[in-house]
Amino acid sequence: GKINIAIDGPAGAGKSTIARMVASMLSYVYVDTGAMYRAATWYLQNLGIGPEEVDKVLHSVQNLGIELMPGEDGQKVLVDGQDVTAEIRSLTVSSQVSRYAQIEGLRNWLVSLQRQMALRKGVVMDGRDIGTTVLPDAEVKVFMTATVEERARRRFKEMQDQQGITLEMIARDIAERDRLDQEREVSPLRQAEDAILLDTTHLTPREVAERIVSFSQS
Ligand code: C5P
Repeated sequence: GKINIAIDGPAGAGKSTIARMVASMLSYVYVDTGAMYRAATWYLQNLGIGPEEVDKVLHSVQNLGIELMPGEDGQKVLVDGQDVTAEIRSLTVSSQVSRYAQIEGLRNWLVSLQRQMALRKGVVMDGRDIGTTVLPDAEVKVFMTATVEERARRRFKEMQDQQGITLEMIARDIAERDRLDQEREVSPLRQAEDAILLDTTHLTPREVAERIVSFSQS
């Protein structure tokens, strides 16, 4: 039968590339939870609501619709029906998302959506708190890491088409997000006790994906 696979780790460890590959190899559904935090951030920034305005944040997301849709080249992200797939990858969103992600009420809302998505199993979900909080019963849990230099290089390759972005800016963004994600009070970035640690620094995405598929078949 189908199982759920939880993939956690710091920014740029390759989680989304690999989770997408694993999902396609197993014909499972890929759920990118970081995209959900990014979508909420994009929406709140457009309204001019800052991460310190907790009451306003919670009030404005009450009726917000965030959807993940399988698209032509990867997953599409919709906010109230509007396609924001490209917008949520900007450094404007990246540099603030971890601040909004500290808000407990916002997390509770997104976690409940994520759990609903995984109810029927056959889901590969990536994030920071999937193995510890969102899907503690996932049959396979992986915690992916890579050196900070390698992670910055990988993110830079994805983002270098954006005007004026340097490797140094990305390295700083990643280091700051990791710090905020590890230090926050509500479900911080952490390896679940029963998660398999995978250092991807010297592995290709395909090698990592094949390992995870083999764990899920044993
Ligand atoms: O995965 P990605 O790097 O796109 O995630 C963006 C940010 O969203 C993370 O740095 C983190 O602050 C937040 N996040 C989270 N919990 C998750 C997924 C993402 O707090 N499950």
